[in-house]
Amino acid sequence: MNIVYLNGIYLPMAEARISPMDRGFLFGDGIYEVIPSYDGRLVGFDPHMKRLQDGLDAIEIRLPVDHAAWREVAGQLIAQNGGGNLGIYIHISRGADIRRNHAYPEDISPTTYAFAFEIPPAPVPEKAAATCYTVATTEDLRWRRCNIKSTALLGNVMHYQHGHALGHKETILHNEAGELTEASACNVFVVKNGIVATPQLDHQKLPGITRLMVLEILRRDGSIPVEERVVTMKELKDADEVWLTSSSKEIAPVVEVDGKPVGNGKVGDVWLAAQTLYTAHKFDF
Ligand code: PLP
Repeated sequence: MNIVYLNGIYLPMAEARISPMDRGFLFGDGIYEVIPSYDGRLVGFDPHMKRLQDGLDAIEIRLPVDHAAWREVAGQLIAQNGGGNLGIYIHISRGADIRRNHAYPEDISPTTYAFAFEIPPAPVPEKAAATCYTVATTEDLRWRRCNIKSTALLGNVMHYQHGHALGHKETILHNEAGELTEASACNVFVVKNGIVATPQLDHQKLPGITRLMVLEILRRDGSIPVEERVVTMKELKDADEVWLTSSSKEIAPVVEVDGKPVGNGKVGDVWLAAQTLYTAHKFDF
């Protein structure tokens, strides 16, 4: 699988070239999205496009996001790379300048890049089949614009690496006040006494599309109460269930936090109910 899209052209990844003066390379000056697809069906395409536009607007890259054009690119990448379970990565940087200068140049064109990569099969709503996570926790030391899906991800990478070095596949983050923000590449949910809670959105968190879809699907269904509010580290440690959400993981149960079991250390009933609803409704968006 190696056909990619670069500035309007489809070509083998090995032949794709960008300038070393591209501001995406020099400054991490760009916005990205990752959209999952299963057998050619994209999950959450419109909300992903809206977030892409929000990110471009936030950093003043003046490029209207053309939903139909990006849908065509995604379709081409899926078709040309063999279909199946694919993530579509879209990256728009401010473009290449002839000199390195912090100010936004007025007269350069954005670099647009997209590729497809294999993702695991969609999670199935069965406890025995769930991919369980153990996580570390640490203070969130990133910048205060985490609501922008910037390609400048070194802060996230360093936090991920913290958990990775301890043998985990994620790191849950909290602010100075001991309030959860998110994880290095996921949003976080806790469940206590049947009530699902997730930190409310602000500049410390990415507005995850899976988070948005989970909240909307649960609210529409109405059988599981959901809250968006401050969630503390103490609540994380006392939770019956903890979940991570992201486009490729959907809803992933966390069974251990900092070496201690979450609840009874097993995948929970509320996870099963939520993942069942998510599986049934994820193509509605
Ligand atoms: N938070 C961060 C920092 C992320 O990088 C991601 C996904 O990449 C998420 C949350 C989850 O977002 P989404 O559900 O849109 O994949």
